[in-house]
Amino acid sequence: MTDQHPRYRALLTGVTGQDGWYLARRLLAEGQEVHGIVRDESVVDSISAELPGLQIHVADLRDNDSLLRALDAAAPDRLFNLAGSTSVARSWEAPVETADTIGIGAVRLLAAAWEQQERTGREIRFLQASSAEVFGDPATAPQSERTPRNPITPYGAAKDFAHTMVQVYRHRGLYATAAILYNHESPRRPTTFVARKITAAVAAIARGRLDHLSLGNMDALRDWGYAPDYVDAMMRILDAPEPHDYIVATGNAHSVRDFLREAFAVVGIDDWESYVSVDPNLYRPADPRALVGDAARLRELGWEPTVSFSELVRTMVQADLDELEATPALDGEVHA
Ligand code: GDP
Repeated sequence: MTDQHPRYRALLTGVTGQDGWYLARRLLAEGQEVHGIVRDESVVDSISAELPGLQIHVADLRDNDSLLRALDAAAPDRLFNLAGSTSVARSWEAPVETADTIGIGAVRLLAAAWEQQERTGREIRFLQASSAEVFGDPATAPQSERTPRNPITPYGAAKDFAHTMVQVYRHRGLYATAAILYNHESPRRPTTFVARKITAAVAAIARGRLDHLSLGNMDALRDWGYAPDYVDAMMRILDAPEPHDYIVATGNAHSVRDFLREAFAVVGIDDWESYVSVDPNLYRPADPRALVGDAARLRELGWEPTVSFSELVRTMVQADLDELEATPALDGEVHA
């Protein structure tokens, strides 16, 4: 793998997040020059220690001048925009910030990349982390790149606008692509997402540190993949000769209830219902019923998921059990 890739300079926004972390680690392992943008100066030491070799720039997607400085300093050949709160639930509490960071932030980066490419004559390839949320509550499943985008959440609307601007800049001549990412998880996923909330709670219940878990809508169907596979997809997408948009998904839908059952099975608990209750406050104002993607176009680039749904759940529960082993018992619940 290492020898097949040309050497290039990559710049990542969102490098402290799940995907940014996995992508930076992978690119560094391949010997690429990797730059990361962080918003908060206080995380510089910890991220440098975790990802040796990463070159860090402090900038904010809401601050154009800081982005221009970071782009000038990094002079990237490839720019991955992975930044912004990924929490759909939180986007209802902060719709303006969501629009600014995710929507306008992407435009700031696209404009800066275009300007630098024009000035230097060096091609910049741009990947936007788009989201299945751009489809809203789609009438058809699985969704493909041809499914109409019709968001129903502030997060989805901001991602939709960013996605459209990628297409606008592609039309103008920038190598710009949108990776339409379905839910993707790992032990690095925060517990604000249901998958990690469940695995952290199940591990804690198995070790007697928690007695109960509250959830919202358990009937929602999601297409859960493994984050390192999705990072692999992003790299393949920018390796392609021509820029296109791609669905990144496993093609398999499972309900939140399926996830629960599977996670409790890992720790040998069958009567899982007695540990779980529904909290109406955790229901969303709008929630897509079934997000499942058809990644046929991406598979043509040689991509396929390496981890099944069961393996994903098992990996995450096991990581949470290991983490509990390493931490002293404390009273308290897993919140999300
Ligand atoms: P999303 O698909 O990007 O919004 O990812 P999440 O992991 O946040 O949510 C996936 C699905 O789980 C959504 O349909 C949520 O409504 C549902 N869900 C049910 N209970 C919870 C919960 O306690 N926390 C979260 N985050 N989601 C929940």
